[in-house]
Amino acid sequence: MSEVSNIKLNDGNEIPQLGFGTFQIEPENTAEAVSQALEIGYRHIDTAEMYGNEKEVGEAIRNSGLDRGDIFVTSKLNNSFHDPDGAREAFDKTLSDLGIEYVDLFLIHWPLPTRYDGDFVSTWQVMEEFHDDGRARSIGVSNFQPDHLDQLAAKTGTVPAVNQIEVHPYFTNDAVREYGQEHGIATEAWSPIAQGGVLDDDTITQIAEKVGKSTAQVVLRWHLQRGDIIFPKSVTPERMKDNFDLFDFELDSDDMEQITALDQGEDGRTGPHPDKFDFIPS
Ligand code: NDP
Repeated sequence: MSEVSNIKLNDGNEIPQLGFGTFQIEPENTAEAVSQALEIGYRHIDTAEMYGNEKEVGEAIRNSGLDRGDIFVTSKLNNSFHDPDGAREAFDKTLSDLGIEYVDLFLIHWPLPTRYDGDFVSTWQVMEEFHDDGRARSIGVSNFQPDHLDQLAAKTGTVPAVNQIEVHPYFTNDAVREYGQEHGIATEAWSPIAQGGVLDDDTITQIAEKVGKSTAQVVLRWHLQRGDIIFPKSVTPERMKDNFDLFDFELDSDDMEQITALDQGEDGRTGPHPDKFDFIPS
């Protein structure tokens, strides 16, 4: 039985704090992986047009036998579609590929401040349309820095419900998290175990031995206790189960502080810097 707690978003909707990520799951493996995740008990799936597997995510949801309302589905607007008409077409396609009438959460995947004349505000205004017409129950952003969020706040009436950003023990990204806390924007932590890069860390290994859990479980638990939303990815059933089994232990404040102190600042970042990332798929 799932003991996953919900986080209340600034629009009143609730999101399960623990979900399942689907980045880098090949389309041919996606339906099986998502089906296994749903069987284990995950009720929150994070996908994106960029991942090329929305159809297969939808297939697993349809075949699960679960009510649509019991699964929280997130997808994201790809970088090619920031202009308003492109965004409208891309969102129609996302819903049609997923085979569902609404997503629980739709995000602008990257701000791309060096593209589209630096204009992500008009993209956000189209996201507001999707929210208003009920096809995106919640809307948010991903990889937005505080100054990007300031621009949305100055020029639009909707505060993003979430900001999905890179966060893990080697890159705690606290300035962006703190901005979110101050403005009612929930933080979703992507690559929560740094794609495996933090799992051999000595400090984390020692804590894992002490609490009798795997290093992945310790790191995921650290995120949950910090209040962030996470969706670790795995195609390995044992790991999928381990990553969902986070609710029968607790890290004490000393463990929490030791893990947080592993932060390496910008050196710990594994992905691109949002101010510079400008990739537009052809
Ligand atoms: P994660 O930090 O979730 O790590 C995934 C990797 O760790 C895989 O190689 C997986 O291997 C391995 N792994 C998973 N669980 C364990 C475990 N218990 N023990 C050992 N190894 C394990 O990385 P992701 O980058 O996938 O991030 C999670 C999700 O965040 C993504 O799937 C996506 O939904 C989202 N994301 C969003 C981004 C954005 O720009 N908005 C960017 C990146 C990610 P294996 O699968 O072989 O088991």
